[in-house]
Amino acid sequence: MAATDQNDPHGFKRRGLLFVLSSPSGAGKSTISRMLLEADAGLQMSVSATTRPMRPGEVDGRDYHFVDLERFRAMTANHEFLEWAHVFGNRYGTPRAPVDRMLEAGRDVLFDIDWQGAQQLHQIAGGDVVRVFILPPSIAELERRLRARGTDSEDVIVGRMSRAANEIAHWDGYDYVLVNDDAQVCFEKVRTILEAERLKRSRQTGLIGFIRGLQKRAEGEV
Ligand code: ADP
Ligand code: 5GP
Repeated sequence: MAATDQNDPHGFKRRGLLFVLSSPSGAGKSTISRMLLEADAGLQMSVSATTRPMRPGEVDGRDYHFVDLERFRAMTANHEFLEWAHVFGNRYGTPRAPVDRMLEAGRDVLFDIDWQGAQQLHQIAGGDVVRVFILPPSIAELERRLRARGTDSEDVIVGRMSRAANEIAHWDGYDYVLVNDDAQVCFEKVRTILEAERLKRSRQTGLIGFIRGLQKRAEGEV
């Protein structure tokens, strides 16, 4: 992944992060993503393409790029996806070009993708990827949240609940695992992870010039 120019008080250059949030449906990843995006101007969302039908309230280009199967297949054949997967009987993929643009503009990129996407991104971009998995406090609470959200029919809720166990089974493919009990507390933990990952020495590619300057001064050369 391209090295990026991230604004910080010292103007150090740093490699951009691919920050992945996954969870069983209803555990709260969209809620936490929204809070993160509001709180952090350095983070931008990757908007996936999907073949699933648009839900009421969703906006094409904001929530997803809604495409038909033919278009999705063409995008796959043209290598337009960084990763893609079958999820719940539909296809979902991460368009590559916007991610490259965001990284080049000095942004970190947030992904709401499933375990298959997290795995593929990690294979492609390894050390630039940080994977966070969010668990519900209990299965009863997961079901309560899906119902309280009020966006899905009974059939869809039953389907999501029956797939929760399979999604949870992939918890060990993540770097961090959190329980979303209180949304504010969970958000603050995710934000702490993001801040700490940004400070990793291996990502701070611009630090070396600053260190050399400090050393020269300390040694009395300037
Ligand atoms: P996901 O994106 O993982 O499918 P959402 O973020 O849509 O889940 O959350 C599902 C529902 O649960 C939403 O109605 C949301 O407002 C609610 N919710 C999210 N986090 C919490 C929490 N910590 N406590 C109670 N309700 C929550
Ligand atoms: P939904 O249809 O509820 O919006 O999303 C269903 C699942 O697909 C979620 O687990 C979400 O994280 C996942 N998903 C969304 N976009 C992508 C993508 O581009 N790639 C992959 N692998 N999964 C995605």
